[in-house]
Amino acid sequence: MKPKRFDVWLRNISETQEEEISCTECFDLVSRFLEVETSGGHVATELPRVKQHLDQCRACRDEYEMLRDLARLENESRTP
Ligand SMILES: [Zn+2]
Repeated sequence: MKPKRFDVWLRNISETQEEEISCTECFDLVSRFLEVETSGGHVATELPRVKQHLDQCRACRDEYEMLRDLARLENESRTP
């Protein structure tokens, strides 16, 4: 690996960590994330960190998908 490239790689890592949220924060925001998403909002602009975390974290993604499915089931049972 060339030194310069290694530098960029390191910088990328620190930048990612700076923007990363924890699983706890993600869990707190995931219902808001779903709200934005179901109301047709743009989650990538409104909650980019949550989206990023969900893309990276399997545990939170599972949690999100479970909540999303529950919300969908609720909606379906409401509509005749
Ligand atoms: Zn997580």
